[in-house]
Formats: sequence, structure tokens, C-alpha cells
Amino acid sequence: MRSLHPRCLEFVGSKVQELIQQGISVYLTNGRSINNKYSGVFNPQAKTLKVAMGQPDEHSMYTFLHEYAHYIQFRDKPELWNYLHREGTDKYVRWLCREITLSKAEIESAFRNVVALEHDAEVMAVSMVSSHNLPLDINAMSRRANCNLIFYSWTRINRVWGDGYCGVNDDDLELYLPDIIPTLDYFTDMKNTKAVMKKAGVKFGKHTRYY
Ligand SMILES: [Zn+2]
Repeated sequence: MRSLHPRCLEFVGSKVQELIQQGISVYLTNGRSINNKYSGVFNPQAKTLKVAMGQPDEHSMYTFLHEYAHYIQFRDKPELWNYLHREGTDKYVRWLCREITLSKAEIESAFRNVVALEHDAEVMAVSMVSSHNLPLDINAMSRRANCNLIFYSWTRINRVWGDGYCGVNDDDLELYLPDIIPTLDYFTDMKNTKAVMKKAGVKFGKHTRYY
């Protein structure tokens, strides 16, 4: 938190206040991740928004914007949020955790929905940088967002979330990603995402069952 630019601190402060007024408990930790799995999480059922603020560089700020964007989806686009959450995130995560079995077509659909929800949040998060005039590198933020989005393909290929690490550091993977956020199709085209990750040095075994 201490390394944040004063304008970012002010932004975080005002949004935390807004969230608390809406009944959302906000947890900002000094760690680099939450439970060694996520850098942040927004959970409307538990009414919590958690962000690991101990991440290097501008990553914490990016994560805060991302989780706040999920809150805005939940608040302002309830139909999109409810549908994509139910038919995307929930199903996809349960499938990843091997709690349910899905057909190839169902995996394809759950994957598309979860990535669509995340893509919408990323576009919103990056646009907040300009709309709130935050002193952050918008191209670096977009690459970070793209890295987040392409990670979903890795989880689908391996059917595991793991600790959020695909075997190549985010900074290295980002070198192979665009510095604007491409359309959703870029991330749902498994041939494309796998090729990009391979170029960046991500190793894949013979996992071809899920797409
Ligand atoms: Zn997200």
C-alpha cells in the first residue's frame, strides 16, 4: 500500500468507502496472494472483496481495479453477472475441481462464459484508469489483463487452477501479449491461446481431451 501513488491511494480509499457503504466488507492484505491462489476475489454471497496489496509494482492496483470491476458488474449488470456466473464461473470452477463432469460442448460453453465475464471486467478495469485519470501505465495494465485472460486457457488444457502459475512468469508471458485488450474471440480460440503460450515457453503435455 505504501508504494502506491497518492492518487491511487485516494482512489482505493474512496472505493473502499463506497463498498463498505454498500455492505461489502473489504479486506486489503499485505500479502502477494489470497490463500496462495488468487491475487484478489469479489464474493457477493459472502459480501466480501479481498485484494492482496503486497504484490510488486502496479499489480496490486490492477487487481483492485479488477475486483472492483466485478463489483460494478454485480451492481450494474445483474443479468449479465448472474447468467455468466451461474453458467460460467460456477460451473467452470466446479469442473476444474472435479466436482462435476461436463461434456465437451458444456466445457466449451462454461469456458466461454467465464472468459466473457472476465473479459468484460478487464475492459472495465482498464477503462477506469483513463476515466479516473490514474497515474498507471495503461498498456502495462492491458498486458496484465491479457495475461489473466489467457491463463483460463491454461486451466482448461490442464483441468487445474493450481496456484495460478502456468510455468512461465507473468512478466515473461506478457511480452507475447498485445498491449491493448483484444476481442473475446482472441481468448476463446484455444488454438490461438495455446500457440501464444507455447511461443512464450509454456510447456504442455498431451492434454487434448478438453477442447
Ligand atoms: Zn476476475
